[in-house]
Amino acid sequence: MANKKNIVAEINPEIRDALVEMGAVDAYKCYQCGKCASVCPWFQVGTYEFLVFRFPLETVLGLIASSEDKDELAREVDKIYRCVGCEACVDQCPLGVEMPHILRSARRILVDFGSYPENLKSVVQKIHNVGNPLGEPRENRGDWAKELLIGDYSENMEMLYFACCLPSYDNRIRNVARSTAGLLKRAGVSFGILGQKESCCGEAIRRVGAEKVFEETARSNIDGFKEANVKMALVSSPHCLVTFQKEYPDFGGEFKAVHATEFLWDCIERGKIVPKKSLKKKVVYHDPCTLGRQSGIYDPPRNILKSIPGLELLEVEDFSRNLSLCCGAGSGALWIDWPKGERMADIRVKQLVDTGAEVIAVACPYCLQMFEETVKAMNLDIEVKDISELLYESVNENQDG
Ligand code: SF4
Ligand code: SF4
Repeated sequence: MANKKNIVAEINPEIRDALVEMGAVDAYKCYQCGKCASVCPWFQVGTYEFLVFRFPLETVLGLIASSEDKDELAREVDKIYRCVGCEACVDQCPLGVEMPHILRSARRILVDFGSYPENLKSVVQKIHNVGNPLGEPRENRGDWAKELLIGDYSENMEMLYFACCLPSYDNRIRNVARSTAGLLKRAGVSFGILGQKESCCGEAIRRVGAEKVFEETARSNIDGFKEANVKMALVSSPHCLVTFQKEYPDFGGEFKAVHATEFLWDCIERGKIVPKKSLKKKVVYHDPCTLGRQSGIYDPPRNILKSIPGLELLEVEDFSRNLSLCCGAGSGALWIDWPKGERMADIRVKQLVDTGAEVIAVACPYCLQMFEETVKAMNLDIEVKDISELLYESVNENQDG
């Protein structure tokens, strides 16, 4: 009995109250049924034990992120930053407990004390300094659009195209911005960009827990939108979509945001874009967490793919639509290297490859980057393409497909 841990003596009401104040109030709803752990992607990975239902309990006891022992705290930090914010648990929890909010509260405390992964500190710093996580110069942000002769947004235009960071700077992913812009031109839409006045939407760093830098970034974008009188923004990243729709209004950002797949499907339905060229490929669609579970957009991406002549659309049995498995890039995880054998993307790519597909179609720049890296690392013979790229190939008869 003398060695028995005295939990009551360890309860830390100060930490509990701080966590609740920072948004972890849902911890009180949890009744420890454990369903969240069985739908969490870490359960599919299988090599890392992630008992996610412990977080609400530790929160109400004030025991999360509270250790003063350096090694123990490091283990806790690793655990807290394993959550990729996919919301599979929220989708299946009988009480709708917002687990990522509970974890984000713990992350905010860790960020305030500087106790979070070094890679993520670097990302937060780069966004603070130059407005993008790659650390690229702010003045080069609109370079991707130059050869397409896309100009700055002005208020007589129909919409702003907000490409965000990877489609603006990454050599491979710039093709998503170019394809989307090419399709908008084909549909006769008048649009412009904000160029160097645009900053990262800030979604990832908010989920990392860097609330102050998120607010600074969000306010900079909102001010830019207001100055330019933006009423509608079209986005390629569903991470921008959820941030613009659900989070910017709290900071005065009142404008309409639409994901490229929704808008492009509407253009096809109205005959403004006509997929003509046959793409005789078996294509499997991966539902990004932020587009599917978090925004309820499941059909427009599929409808676009089905409208492309010759394309055969495949699905991952049992892990499709709201049951899709995360690519592993959310909530800052894009910049964390977990050991081989503990990577969600490996599991998801295997599920996608097992359908017999020749192409993995995505609708999110994070998924595109994760899957491309994984396919290369695993030496697999399968292409990864954004839906905008596939559609542009089919619409643009001058391209080889
Ligand atoms: S599924 Fe919901 S109620 Fe059940 S343990 Fe998880 S968070 Fe708690
Ligand atoms: S959001 Fe996703 S990764 Fe995070 S705990 Fe829930 S199911 Fe697991």
